[in-house]
Amino acid sequence: MAGGRVIISVASGKGGTGKTLVATSMVLSLSDKGRVQLLDCDVEEPDAHLFLKPTFTHREAVSIPVPRVDERKCTYCGKCAEVCVYNAIAVMKEKVLIFPELCHGCGACSYLCPEGAISEEGKEIGVVESGYSNGVRFVHGKLSIGELMAPPIIRRVKQHVASEGIIIIDVSPGTSCPVVDAVKGSDFCLLVTEPTPFGLNDLVLAVELVRKLNIPCGVVLNRSGVGDRGVEEYCHRGNIPILLTIPLDIEIAAFYSRGIPLVEGIPQWRESFLNLFNKIGEILNK
Ligand code: SF4
Ligand code: SF4
Repeated sequence: MAGGRVIISVASGKGGTGKTLVATSMVLSLSDKGRVQLLDCDVEEPDAHLFLKPTFTHREAVSIPVPRVDERKCTYCGKCAEVCVYNAIAVMKEKVLIFPELCHGCGACSYLCPEGAISEEGKEIGVVESGYSNGVRFVHGKLSIGELMAPPIIRRVKQHVASEGIIIIDVSPGTSCPVVDAVKGSDFCLLVTEPTPFGLNDLVLAVELVRKLNIPCGVVLNRSGVGDRGVEEYCHRGNIPILLTIPLDIEIAAFYSRGIPLVEGIPQWRESFLNLFNKIGEILNK
């Protein structure tokens, strides 16, 4: 990982496994902060800024084009409702209803309206903010309350990916579209999980996803000491390396709850995270 660019996404099959703890400690463990960038793509609930406390220098609104119908031109033919796979348009006898919160801004309805009755207008769905935290370049996206379209905001956050250095992407939990958008294009994906049956169940789904995307992966086992050995046995069987183990520890939990990154609260952890980078480097260089 000496030169060039390496993108490492940090994902988890389920929420609350310590994904942000891992992502923030990774960026803070590196001494050459100018070469590090953190992108928080968990746009529904971004929280990396609570730990890194960046100073934001730039803010941009993110909009998607939603249709607007000129009923003077509309013949109520129903074509727009037919082509909208997201059910964001309904055509009644003499009324066209648009449900902006369901609209994905794909433009198919305006393109296919035979009367040219549909124009598009921008609808703000969230913001992207960027800045610095102790030299680390920081970008996050925030989906507005009530909005559902996370992918356009994630894509806008990812437009900020630096052309070189180490880029850490904090991904939203789960295995849905926003996760695919955030993880896509990564060189490596770290999957943070905990040693419980729930952790295992969600890890299996996350591994399937990253394998479909053809991205090498490894596991961070958080809260080790609770639960059972199911995750370890699964990783062993599937040849998935467990690259870091973090014990269930009241001191770690206390720092986390106060918004203090692990490597700042307990600096001895810095070496473990540097070791994590080395192990990822070895896998990528194989
Ligand atoms: S496709 Fe155009 S003309 Fe037909 S119902 Fe929709 S807006 Fe009206
Ligand atoms: S822009 Fe696409 S998603 Fe939105 S209403 Fe038109 S067809 Fe449906």
